[in-house]
Amino acid sequence: MNQLTTRGVAFSCDPNGVVLQVLKDDLGIGTLPGASFADMVDVHSAEKARNFLLSLRERKSVYGWQMNVSIDQSVRPLVFAGGATGDYLLILAAPSQNSLAGLFEEILNANAEAVQALRALIERERLRTELARDYDLYDELSRLNNELINRERELSIKTAALERVTEEKNRLIGIAAHDLRNPLLIIRGYAELIQAEGQLDGESAEYVDEIARSALYMTELVDELLDNAKVESGQVELNLEPIDLVAAAKHSASINHRRADGKDISLVVDAQVDSMVVNLDPVKLRQIINNLVVNAIKYSESGTTVTLRVRRTDRDAVLEVVDQGIGIPEDQLDRIFQPFTALQKSGTAGESAIGLGLSIVKRLVELHGGTIQVQSRPGAGSTFTVAFPLPS
Ligand code: ADP
Repeated sequence: MNQLTTRGVAFSCDPNGVVLQVLKDDLGIGTLPGASFADMVDVHSAEKARNFLLSLRERKSVYGWQMNVSIDQSVRPLVFAGGATGDYLLILAAPSQNSLAGLFEEILNANAEAVQALRALIERERLRTELARDYDLYDELSRLNNELINRERELSIKTAALERVTEEKNRLIGIAAHDLRNPLLIIRGYAELIQAEGQLDGESAEYVDEIARSALYMTELVDELLDNAKVESGQVELNLEPIDLVAAAKHSASINHRRADGKDISLVVDAQVDSMVVNLDPVKLRQIINNLVVNAIKYSESGTTVTLRVRRTDRDAVLEVVDQGIGIPEDQLDRIFQPFTALQKSGTAGESAIGLGLSIVKRLVELHGGTIQVQSRPGAGSTFTVAFPLPS
């Protein structure tokens, strides 16, 4: 009895329930190939056996049907399960649910055609479930991807609109600045003429000085606005030619000497070599160096030194403008290269601060394929380092 509970019966049938092969018969049912499944069970379970077959063909797998079977002239209840492929039915029966599960495991390893077909079916089922899961993932991915594409489309429309507005803004600033330039030059010219004649005194002389100063400031502002508009709209063209960086540094020092002297600042050139030739646009280079030198003087106290250092590395020609001035707080270092970032309202002697120069310098340096960096500490001065690639 105890032995029976661990045993079972397994056989394959054709779709009509005719036994094809007996894989296992530990219970002694004695079924042979050719017998009908319906005849195998007790007469009272015959109807149920037909329904079992129907259900098996329809649902492909059934489990846990209880039917009575005559064994050795006695009727025993068995639990049935089955799997169906197109050509085969595989039917298992065991005295209990537990032994049926064990039997199922055992039979799945058997090397019979019906079992292999069933295994394939199980495998296909598993695959189908996985595929369904993959499809779900794929659907979700496609949805996200579409969303991303839509966002990108929206973003590029907005970017294009923004670019158009920026272009238009630059164009208008360019026109306004250009139209302001001539009248300003006239105001400045007459104011300086009156100053030079020296016929005014007292308050009148001060008024004219103020007119000249304001006109100068406005001309500088207008010039920088024009430069910025040009750089931003990509209108700057480079006329490259071999330029000696050492000579350019010396030239900038000489034209800024008066400015430095006026604040009692020493302006020196410290060159590692006699000359260093790089392919650069001479006008833009002058603008780059002058801007840095003017800033160094602007943001330094009297009695200090501004040094223009020229040196080379393996790959670059390097120009450094070093001052001992007020320095820049570390958290502001990135900002100073952005347009309209004047951290100071004015220089140490009240010079005007517009906040455009360094952003223009950076663009011009980068147009030459170079880089600009700054090192600075408040109170300890600043070093602006410009590196241009040397011809290879
Ligand atoms: P501007 O000098 O007209 O304000 P810049 O773009 O040339 O415009 O400089 C931006 C800001 O960077 C300045 O307002 C100043 O605060 C800071 N800066 C630039 N150069 C120096 C320097 N050598 N030392 C200290 N601060 C500097």
